[in-house]
Amino acid sequence: ILFNKYQELKGNIRVMCRVRPVLNESEGNQALIAFPDLKTSAQIDVTGPEERSSLGHTIRKVIPFEFDRVFTPAIHNEEIFGEISQLVQSALDGFNVCIFCYGQTGSGKTYTMSSSDGMIPRATHMIYETVTKLKEKSWTYTMEGSFVEVYNEELNDLLTPNTEQKRKLEIRHDDARKQTTVLNCKTVALDSPNTVESILQQAQNNRSVAATKANERSSRSHSVFILKLVGENSATNERCEGTLNLVDLAGSERLKHSQAEGDRMKETQNINKSLACLGDVIEALGRGSGHIPYRNSKLTHLLQYSLGGNSKTLMFVMVSPLEAHLKETITSLRFATKVH
Ligand code: ADP
Ligand code: MG
Repeated sequence: ILFNKYQELKGNIRVMCRVRPVLNESEGNQALIAFPDLKTSAQIDVTGPEERSSLGHTIRKVIPFEFDRVFTPAIHNEEIFGEISQLVQSALDGFNVCIFCYGQTGSGKTYTMSSSDGMIPRATHMIYETVTKLKEKSWTYTMEGSFVEVYNEELNDLLTPNTEQKRKLEIRHDDARKQTTVLNCKTVALDSPNTVESILQQAQNNRSVAATKANERSSRSHSVFILKLVGENSATNERCEGTLNLVDLAGSERLKHSQAEGDRMKETQNINKSLACLGDVIEALGRGSGHIPYRNSKLTHLLQYSLGGNSKTLMFVMVSPLEAHLKETITSLRFATKVH
């Protein structure tokens, strides 16, 4: 039984790596990480930093990593979405699904997840199309979106304007139904394909009071787009309830505590802690461990019922191609290997 459980849980976690392209001329002049030719589309080899061999020579070892899939810089969001569309379908079929983007700031998380061409708009557009087709088979769906941010271990509503008084968000679990609601959180009915663009825009506006700090803030917080999908079949009386969580994680770069003071230090500790906790939870699930430490961070507490049981998880580990980012790249790939 234990073996089956292990297989079943391991089978619901996928890890994929995406290497972003070199962005502009100034990056074009920088040294790049050597990624030796890939033997399979699931492998990425990284030429590590300079080391001294036992004979005193300077050497660079090649470190191999293997994931479910590796996306090279030439691959566009469209193809990436092709890999996740099955998971979106699963959410329509009544499963709870989590898709994460993990990586250092500047590695392409937001581009992949929440840009106008990213996974959030693509997923919602696919859902509209599918739901329209399912109408012919007597299925009616309601689709509700919310968008929250976990910042310093607190939940904030990204859809309530900063000018309005925000009420404290609270996580409520329904253990029998294995569903989660966030109390006091604004939800938006996704009744047209264009709603999602306006949701993304609102979230961007509400992310921070000072607009110039919005990008920085988003790198220091986790944002979670939550899409609840409830389907009812008028002919068969079947009903299904699924959730799609699309998560743009805080930058994983390890800021040294000594470099940060006061608020910044607290922020840093909270990011390090919550990312480590996410790793621990996914790893424990993969091992089929009896105790899953969901309660150790706000993010895993929020996502509890979308991470365990028969829910499905996909982690994208995003990396930069620049040699200047080699250390963080290796750290990110090791993290991803741990949860794989
Ligand atoms: P992060 O959210 O991880 O900090 P971003 O998604 O903001 O990183 O990406 C950093 C920059 O790189 C942005 O200007 C973004 O548009 C660009 N970028 C990232 N990935 C790609 C890609 N695959 N193709 C083109 N531009 C990209
Ligand atoms: Mg970002």
